[in-house]
Amino acid sequence: MSSAQQVEDTTKNYQLFIDGKWVDAESGKTFSTPNPATGELLAEVAEADKVDIDKAVSAARRAFEGKWSKMSARDRGRLLYKLSQLIDEHSAELAAIETADNGKPIKESLYVDIPQVVENFEYFAGWATKIEGETIPVPGKMFNYTLREPIGVCGQIIPWNFPLLMAAWKLAPALAAGNTVVLKPAEQTPVGAMELAKLIQEAGFPEGVVNVVPGYGETAGAALAGHPGIDKVAFTGSTEVGKLIAKSAADNLTKVSLELGGKAPNIVFADSDLDQAVAGAMMGIFYNQGQVCCAGSRLFVEESVKDEFLSKLSERAERIAVGDPMDKATQMGPQVSEEQLNRIKGYVEIARGEGAAVLVGGESPKLEGAFQKGYFFRPTIFADVNNKMRVAQEEIFGPVVSVISFTDEEDLIKQANDTIYGLSAGIWTQDITRAHRFAKEIKAGVVWINTYNMFNAASPFGGYKQSGYGREMGRHALDLYTQVKSVWVDLSGRPIGWFGN
Ligand code: NAP
Ligand code: MG
Repeated sequence: MSSAQQVEDTTKNYQLFIDGKWVDAESGKTFSTPNPATGELLAEVAEADKVDIDKAVSAARRAFEGKWSKMSARDRGRLLYKLSQLIDEHSAELAAIETADNGKPIKESLYVDIPQVVENFEYFAGWATKIEGETIPVPGKMFNYTLREPIGVCGQIIPWNFPLLMAAWKLAPALAAGNTVVLKPAEQTPVGAMELAKLIQEAGFPEGVVNVVPGYGETAGAALAGHPGIDKVAFTGSTEVGKLIAKSAADNLTKVSLELGGKAPNIVFADSDLDQAVAGAMMGIFYNQGQVCCAGSRLFVEESVKDEFLSKLSERAERIAVGDPMDKATQMGPQVSEEQLNRIKGYVEIARGEGAAVLVGGESPKLEGAFQKGYFFRPTIFADVNNKMRVAQEEIFGPVVSVISFTDEEDLIKQANDTIYGLSAGIWTQDITRAHRFAKEIKAGVVWINTYNMFNAASPFGGYKQSGYGREMGRHALDLYTQVKSVWVDLSGRPIGWFGN
């Protein structure tokens, strides 16, 4: 075969992005990441380990103490805004990469994930010039004011479910506030963050301000979280790993913010608009293949409408188009990895063992061609669940919903709150008093009334209980990335007389 006839190798290769340069891992090691729709190789990526993390943390420290701290807030904001524009210009390519890397339908990548990435960088670009201290009305001839300063070098560890969006939620407020970052993407989805690093370079951020170090959680992630050279660690992922992060950060008293798992109640009252509630239940659990920390995975339905509701929900769930995520008509792509697929299958067995009924799904779909090797699972509904069952208590992280019926509102609230998690909750009712009563009584960081999965860069997001510490997005995110210094000035010009003169 002449070289012109050879099949082009479309595998992408990525190095680590440290100190503004693309470098191999010190060990020379790489890892491969598949396209979850086909199981075929998508990219070969440098594998960071402790020594690479050391290099990245040193680079971030130099940048923090050097050029970045001397840059004006306005120029920081302009860089973030430039980055938002570059992402917008490249949105079609980035969406295709996100879908190839994660498996989510292209419709979601293109119209939700990437636009929200742009929105977050744009929003926090505006904040750079608006981070202010205060003057405090202290008594006497004293002047007291506060400075709101960046924390320093931030280690950021992100998951695979919204790879670019999670990078944006972490990077945008950290950079707006003047911090520098070492970012570790998830091993399942490193590609988007590497493409983002190219745009960060193109936007003109000084070297070392953002370093991107893909690798495994147990090695690169643990080395970053426990690194004595970082001032803050921000993590999104499982509650289990969140606890490990908090423990290792405790050794250096590194500041921590955590956005962890959920088992959100999504509640349908008989007085709701049932068609709207069915659509909302679908959005709550089938969006992004159910791989959403705020997924409405416990669907509480008032007993009097349960049969009608379930028949509508089942009929619509059966019609969800599962398949090639690059096809714009597809509504559900593959799960992110074989491991996640197996985990979900395991929960189907657990549900059956616990006495729940599999109403819809419970298995992989029969797909054609290359997609036979993809990690697909059908939209799945478990009926006859009670809140004590494992499938109602453990985060499954797949397109699997547990339906629990209720009759009494007071008991419902108790059940809704009977979980270690507290990330989000949804309620469907026409009764405005009941809706707000619920919003007050539910222990969750986000409540949706007659809607689900609504997000905006200006609105805070984060968890109660074991769903984490801190709020991302909105002005609250700046609290995670700044610290307050109180400055006292004596205006009297006299010596302190306390010990006598
Ligand atoms: P995970 O282990 O919590 O992964 C999240 C991030 O933490 C990844 O970047 C991961 O690295 C890293 N990590 C893993 N172990 C670490 C350690 N010891 N120290 C520092 N960083 C570490 O989540 P997963 O294993 O991918 O998924 C397992 C379950 O977590 C899911 O089934 C789901 O229930 C939950 N989850 C929740 C969210 C959420 O948004 N709340 C997101 C993803 C998963 P690598 O992946 O590169 O090894
Ligand atoms: Mg893991």
